[in-house]
Amino acid sequence: MSTVYNFNAGPAVLPRSVILKAQEELADYKGCGYSILEESHRAKAFEEVIQAAEANIRQLMGISDDYAVLFLQGGASMQFAQVPMNLMVPGKKVGAADTGEWAHKAIKELKIQNADIDLIYDGSANHYKTIGDASQWKIDPNDAYVHICANNTIYGTEYQTFPETGDIPLVADMSSDIMSRVVDVNKFALIYAGAQKNMGPSGVTLVIIRKDLAERCPATVPTMLRYTTHIEKQSLFNTPPTFGIYIIRLVTDWMLAKGGIAAIQKVNEAKAELLYNAIDNSGFFRGTCDKADRSKMNVTFRIGDGDEELEKKFVAEAKAAGFVGLKGHRAVGGLRASIYNAMPFDGVMELVKFMKDFASKN
Ligand SMILES: *Cc1c(COP(=O)(O)O)cnc(C)c1O
Repeated sequence: MSTVYNFNAGPAVLPRSVILKAQEELADYKGCGYSILEESHRAKAFEEVIQAAEANIRQLMGISDDYAVLFLQGGASMQFAQVPMNLMVPGKKVGAADTGEWAHKAIKELKIQNADIDLIYDGSANHYKTIGDASQWKIDPNDAYVHICANNTIYGTEYQTFPETGDIPLVADMSSDIMSRVVDVNKFALIYAGAQKNMGPSGVTLVIIRKDLAERCPATVPTMLRYTTHIEKQSLFNTPPTFGIYIIRLVTDWMLAKGGIAAIQKVNEAKAELLYNAIDNSGFFRGTCDKADRSKMNVTFRIGDGDEELEKKFVAEAKAAGFVGLKGHRAVGGLRASIYNAMPFDGVMELVKFMKDFASKN
């Protein structure tokens, strides 16, 4: 097999060793004679998997017992609705920052639920190229909670500082940068993330929620959509996405073996620096976001002022050379290299070589 570097935004690259381990264990899980796909979610073997996955995440992120760690379904998109269903308070506004496509979609769901929105940041005026110092944002002290999207997968910006919300619960969509950098979980009341960018396959949504906050939920919310249901049953109220949780367990084992999030963050910073430097020094490619707010996960760029023909050629030739997934999101066009935890440093190094070569020929 020839080496292919996968820069897809999500579902995205997973550690090769995890894929091989899953393959090795698939047909006969630890000698039981069948696969983990076919195992009951109530069986001992799966109990061990889900408990290990949770313990790994708690250890990696330093999560205290005040928080529940849940494996849910419906993607981050479900959380856009489930969060307000559980956390809105009658007569109070919801603080929200609009930093791009996904943040915007979360706000849309708030509007569907008739939330009165305290728009704490509006990035649309700057075409979402910047976030700025979020710690300086003014928050209405009466907000029920504040929602942000920590890393903007499509536009390529990432919060460098977080809003200071004091006692107001801070909720973050961390789908595309969860466990990519050290974050103080205690600053947040709720963190959610679709697994398919930095943790595992699609179909699992990680929710980290301060347990006391879950009690806010109004009586009219359906059982499946109440966080309290899943906290009480430790994500086993109904059949959870067992295979996805199994892969998350393997990915988090891999992360611990790498030295944890602080060690992985160092590599992520080196990868991002290498790639952004190559873009900035090329005189050919151009980064699309404010330097100060650039994402270390999703590197968005263009050729010149957006030469679509040449960008098409770049994507095609890159693919032929073994670099896949470099096309920008359809909402913004251009180019994007997603360099999640599992993208090796060598992958970025090889991409940079290819980019230099392409620039000199074109
Ligand atoms: C991908 C993504 C989503 C959507 O996730 P789904 O699991 O497909 O619902 C939401 N927010 C962010 C930041 C994302 O990157």
